[in-house]
Amino acid sequence: MPKIMIIGAGGVAGVAAYKCAQAHEHFERIMLASRSISKCIGIRDRIKEKTGVEIEVAEVNAEDVPHLVSLIRSFKPDVVLNLALPYQDLKIMDACLEAGANYVDTANYEPEDVAHFEYSWQWAYKEKFKERGLIAVLGCGFDPGVSNIFSAFAQKHLFDEIHYIDILDCNAGNHGHPFATNFNPEINIREVTQVVRHWENGRWVETPSILNPGSVHFPFDYPVVGKKESYLLYHEELESLAKNIHGLKRIRFWMTFSENYINYLRVLQDVGMTRIDEVDYEGSKVVPIRFLKCLLPDPASLGSNYTGKTVIGNVITGIKDGREKSVYIYNVCDHSESFKEAGAQAISYTTGVPAMIAAMLVANGTWKGSGVFNAEEMDPDPFMELLGRYGLPWEQKDFAGRLPD
Ligand code: NDP
Repeated sequence: MPKIMIIGAGGVAGVAAYKCAQAHEHFERIMLASRSISKCIGIRDRIKEKTGVEIEVAEVNAEDVPHLVSLIRSFKPDVVLNLALPYQDLKIMDACLEAGANYVDTANYEPEDVAHFEYSWQWAYKEKFKERGLIAVLGCGFDPGVSNIFSAFAQKHLFDEIHYIDILDCNAGNHGHPFATNFNPEINIREVTQVVRHWENGRWVETPSILNPGSVHFPFDYPVVGKKESYLLYHEELESLAKNIHGLKRIRFWMTFSENYINYLRVLQDVGMTRIDEVDYEGSKVVPIRFLKCLLPDPASLGSNYTGKTVIGNVITGIKDGREKSVYIYNVCDHSESFKEAGAQAISYTTGVPAMIAAMLVANGTWKGSGVFNAEEMDPDPFMELLGRYGLPWEQKDFAGRLPD
């Protein structure tokens, strides 16, 4: 039976470790390793109380590659699931190559000093993983992750040709704070304040960010939660899906934001609090966005009072048997039910569940290969089957509505 090592001890890692414990008959050993051992211990104790399953914990800083290599060598995992921050992705991939472990993550590498998301850095590892006979599967959370798998499933089963994909991510939840981010504020704010891009007719089209005049948005009528204003945003899966879904004419990503969130963020940006460079403060170097992170509620703490639902899915349009059709594939997840079950709000839950499933499929050899892949390059069927079993049932229906051109 396979062994899994999870790196990181945030909200997503807590859910993934809990789901591994739920699936313990599929794992010989489960290890959670992060730079704060106290957080690992907290997660381990909660899981033991809830499931009776004992997971192992270790302290490791992914910046210290030799230490990480020796930990991987001694534990010998069949897969390393990277749920630390995206800045560490390349170091953890290096350690996996050196120690001979397969690799899965949920976010693409991002340099710490530039808010820029691009797969080129990780795709450059393709040959090295191939030579070592190892597999790395990138971006296996919900979006990226399930959004990629929904696209692959549609390509395999529902269409002869796919022309348009619109990924729509709605958080209709309420955490009760005037302003908070649902996952690491640094990562979240970097993502939503960047220039927006979508891919159309073979090239990237830029539009203003959600905070600027001219940002593109429209009210989408989501199942269960109703109409929510949805903003065009750049998201990393656009890059890989534009490459891997053949015949695609356009792919876009939309995310809901409340007016309140946008107003707060605009003020924070205007006063410089979202800057990612160092500024001098009374002789000390301070990165404003990191200081802001200290002041904002810890995303992991939001879960206890979070109500409402997330609705995330893809509207896909293409040709089947000579006729145009559109389908909508989506999942609805409830914040308070996620918290009750796994001790985390729905954003962490919807990321941790697919991450565990992808890692399980790599660990048990269902997903195999040598090199670096994105989730849509893997067989979607076993993943789609496990998604419902581990807490994220999905719906598929014909879509008759209209999206903006
Ligand atoms: P958190 O910031 O809550 O947790 C990150 C964890 O990684 C923390 O426990 C942190 O340690 C640990 N960590 C950071 N640096 C290191 C290091 N150098 N060595 C070892 N451990 C380290 O993030 P989340 O749990 O919210 O998210 C996890 C990942 O999932 C992120 O990469 C995020 O971008 C991604 N994500 C993907 C989504 C998707 O749908 N695809 C959605 C949401 C998130 P410490 O506790 O000491 O700070």
